[in-house]
Amino acid sequence: MSDSKPLSKTIPQTMNEMQMKAQESKETESIRKRMTNLTDQRFGRLVAEYPTKRRDHKGSVYWHCHCDCGQNTEVTEDSLVSGNKQSCGCLKKENQRQIYQRLHHVDGTCVEWLEKRKKRKDNTSGFRGVYLMSNGRYRVMIGFRGERFYLGTFDHMDEAVRVRQKAERDIHDAFVKKYRLWSEKAASDHIWGRKNPFVFRVIKDPYIRYRVISSPDLPETPS
Ligand SMILES: [Zn+2]
Repeated sequence: MSDSKPLSKTIPQTMNEMQMKAQESKETESIRKRMTNLTDQRFGRLVAEYPTKRRDHKGSVYWHCHCDCGQNTEVTEDSLVSGNKQSCGCLKKENQRQIYQRLHHVDGTCVEWLEKRKKRKDNTSGFRGVYLMSNGRYRVMIGFRGERFYLGTFDHMDEAVRVRQKAERDIHDAFVKKYRLWSEKAASDHIWGRKNPFVFRVIKDPYIRYRVISSPDLPETPS
């Protein structure tokens, strides 16, 4: 790094303009020598176009790059050569979207999330979906696909909990189980999967609170 010493140490005070220019060109030359020419080189989605005057804290040159998505961005030589940066940021965004989509979203319901939620035991009011009202009674609700289903109001907590647990089995557990069975079969038989799309709906019913509609019918394998 001897060539990056401050100019003041090597330039005499009485230097004229000509000498100054000569010194400057020497300086740029030495920078060029340290800098790899990456012009038109491809790094993932990025094509390096020209070096900018920007340097990072280690002295690595920022290159003006064009990304396949159409965006322009400045990336250091180090990041390009090491492969740390392969897009303007669009690649990372796409990967995140794919991860999100991989979380088994079925009509807006995340299977993994439902499963995880089952394992959690965080009950604030004593029990999830059971709400103690000011009159001392217990109101029971269950949510599914952004909808809330009213399960009734009960005098006793244990009764309320039982109703809620039954609804969890009928709706959440059944959804996860049926979806698993369906997706396994659909994965091994694509034609069947296309002919028999997964259906799982919960509709409000004035008499029995909720009704579950699901198809296709799949035999449960004993586990
Ligand atoms: Zn991009």
